[in-house]
Amino acid sequence: MPKKKDKRIANTPKAAYLWSLCSKVVREADDYTCRKCGKNWRYEPGFLDGAHCEGRRKGSVKYVYTNVLSLCRIPCHSWFDELSSYDHNDFVCEQIGEEAYEALKLQARGMLKLTPSDKRELARGFREDLAFLHKCRATGETGNLRHRLEEK
Ligand SMILES: [Zn+2]
Repeated sequence: MPKKKDKRIANTPKAAYLWSLCSKVVREADDYTCRKCGKNWRYEPGFLDGAHCEGRRKGSVKYVYTNVLSLCRIPCHSWFDELSSYDHNDFVCEQIGEEAYEALKLQARGMLKLTPSDKRELARGFREDLAFLHKCRATGETGNLRHRLEEK
């Protein structure tokens, strides 16, 4: 007899889904523009990645917006992944500021265990942020909207 699945657990967002939402929010906020070369990918968003400043395996910062930069899959993301730690540090500081990066590194030391309810909450927050950004765009706001997410 197949076990009856707990409906709430069955409805728990999967990591891939959470990441796709998070990456969409970040890329929309960045106006689908590569942070390295400035190329715009709005009409080919699949070629723009959300690149993690602090490794994505560090669960505690996997879904933190400041930890994610929009970069062309090729060549900018590969370029970014191959930087020496010194140059990596430099580029990230340029992008998000030294203070934010220091805070991120601290946060990355922690572990994050998400419960099913945390995951649903996270997904809800991403969908809200995405809808908010779409609303900003609809009223004619252009360019980078990261600051709008921070104001929320
Ligand atoms: Zn690029």
